[in-house]
Amino acid sequence: MFNLILFGPPGSGKGTQSEKLINKFGLKHLSTGDLLRSEIANQTKLGLEAKSLMDKGQLVPDAVVVGMISSALDNNPYAKGFLFDGFPRTTAQAEALDNLLSQRGAAINILLALNVTEEELVKRLLNRGLTSGRSDDTNEEVVRARIVEYNKKTSAVADYYRQFDKVVMIKGEGTVDEIFDALCQAIMAKQTA
Ligand code: ADP
Repeated sequence: MFNLILFGPPGSGKGTQSEKLINKFGLKHLSTGDLLRSEIANQTKLGLEAKSLMDKGQLVPDAVVVGMISSALDNNPYAKGFLFDGFPRTTAQAEALDNLLSQRGAAINILLALNVTEEELVKRLLNRGLTSGRSDDTNEEVVRARIVEYNKKTSAVADYYRQFDKVVMIKGEGTVDEIFDALCQAIMAKQTA
């Protein structure tokens, strides 16, 4: 199995690049944001509880997203590998993910971190809000709250994987294809290493 984490702040392009990467490398895409939005669309209890936090730009509890990822791993026993997008978002989630994978004889192979300046992030997110239908993208205060959560809780996830030498930084500004090429190069270098 080849398992990768596509990492970066909200608006750094994880969704766009994930679509291209899963097609090229045959990975199964696991986005906790998408999984949560589908719970909301289905009006489940979990979805209703998550929505109030997401609308404020706050993280949902670790146990909730870890449970969703654990089920997704169980539901895809024959996957060639997974691309984790928007997960792990805290060090506790990273430790839980490492445990879930090691129980299945697997591990994270690489964390690719997209680097984008804060002003560019805010611009992209508010712009996405014009068409995405995502309520958390339309309000500048919520957008900034998400970036604060990222700096406070999520950026530490890269430090966690850095101790295992699994982190590669990628410039997240430029054309979609330029960024995709840089991501592919990093993956291929790791696959042959
Ligand atoms: P973005 O990265 O653009 O903010 P996501 O779709 O990844 O968008 O996440 C949207 C919201 O869903 C987050 O602001 C957060 O409230 C919640 N969320 C998604 N993934 C996680 C996670 N791994 N842990 C906690 N909350 C999460």
